[in-house]
Amino acid sequence: MQALEALESNVRTYSRSFPAIFSRARGSIMLTEDGRKVIDFLSGAGALNYGHNNHEIKAAIVDYLASDAVIHGLDMATPAKLEFMETFSSVILRERGLQYRFQFTGPTGASAVEAALNLSRKVTGRQNVISFTRGYHGMSLGAIAASGNRFYRTGSGTSLSGATFMPYDGYFGPAVDTADYVRNILMDENSGVDWPAAILVETVQGEGGINVADRQWLRSIHSIAKSVGALFVVDDIQMGCGRTGDFFSFEFAALSPDIVVLSKSLSGFGLPLSILLIKEEVDVWRPGEHTGTFRGNNLALVSANAAIDIYWRDRVFAEGVQRMGGLVRRRLEAIASEHGNSFAVRGRGLALGFDCQVTEIAESTTRKAFEKGLIIERCGPNDQVVKFLPALTIDLETLNHGLEIFEESLAETVKSSGAPVACPQRKDTDEPMTA
Ligand SMILES: *Cc1c(COP(=O)(O)O)cnc(C)c1O
Repeated sequence: MQALEALESNVRTYSRSFPAIFSRARGSIMLTEDGRKVIDFLSGAGALNYGHNNHEIKAAIVDYLASDAVIHGLDMATPAKLEFMETFSSVILRERGLQYRFQFTGPTGASAVEAALNLSRKVTGRQNVISFTRGYHGMSLGAIAASGNRFYRTGSGTSLSGATFMPYDGYFGPAVDTADYVRNILMDENSGVDWPAAILVETVQGEGGINVADRQWLRSIHSIAKSVGALFVVDDIQMGCGRTGDFFSFEFAALSPDIVVLSKSLSGFGLPLSILLIKEEVDVWRPGEHTGTFRGNNLALVSANAAIDIYWRDRVFAEGVQRMGGLVRRRLEAIASEHGNSFAVRGRGLALGFDCQVTEIAESTTRKAFEKGLIIERCGPNDQVVKFLPALTIDLETLNHGLEIFEESLAETVKSSGAPVACPQRKDTDEPMTA
């Protein structure tokens, strides 16, 4: 670890929260170099929905590698790419009554968000984008401009423009319907907010604190986008690919976004792969107008194809995710009630947040959890929410073991803090809260 400090930039993050050297991993277990077995409830921040080194998916890429098939071909046509698009279209899209074209973007989520915003601006001839408080869309300039986090915004070192923030569902508490507010502002010729090229939204804010948008709220935002001639763009980078219990996180609200952004678990194996799903009528790109060296890496397309083929041909997998999500949720609610309900539980599917209300409680709980063998991270404006993102393929025994570790770590934290749990919530500060 000393070598790490000397060699790697100060910017490193997760190696600080989880101080160990991880050598191998399989499913939901990671092994450290010194022989510890650790349960993973972080899952590459949602990039490993099918677990580490999923052997069925791995078999497909091992075969592909062994055959000297094309790995990198810019965006030339390959059997791997055609097969991926065909499988995705028939298994995922057609089954859901959706029709999209594929745009292969650069490999990171941010590059795909950036492409979605550029395309929206090109389609509408407008510049402004509506995004939401506590939203997170990545680290490129256009994506940060649309992200709420002040720490990251400041980190960009330049002025960020082109986005207007609106309050997300629930931002002012349950009594205020923020969709009404958005509608009023955008319909008012004198509100001072320019008509947007796009409304960019997460159905559950992953980094922002597992904030869950209600079905009706999402439908309202979609219809507002339509009425002001803006594209409705869902950033499904973290909540897509099964995380909420359906392939797309917006299925429960029966939405058909103009653009869907997918990345993180799309490759099924932790390989970088990002795409936009775009409606045919918004596909106004001229050939080559948006480009990139690593678009649609073939190895990642092979694993993505395998993941869809293995898990999404019927409803069994999705139903399992919903069942496990219910189980985790009830367990977390029981834990919250043991502590006099000073904590809140939120989420959908297997994306769950345990809001400790107080940064220090969440921090100490996740630190103790790691000492006891559980990797789990925090999110939310003050990093006060413990975020449960187990692999969707996790077995019940490992899942329960992880939950036990969390429960113990929280109990020890609350006991040793001695303070009444219901402390006032900490104010936003400019200070980085993630150690
Ligand atoms: C992770 C994430 C991104 C950014 O993806 P990168 O691959 O880190 O660039 C964008 N939006 C959401 C919702 C994310 O969770």
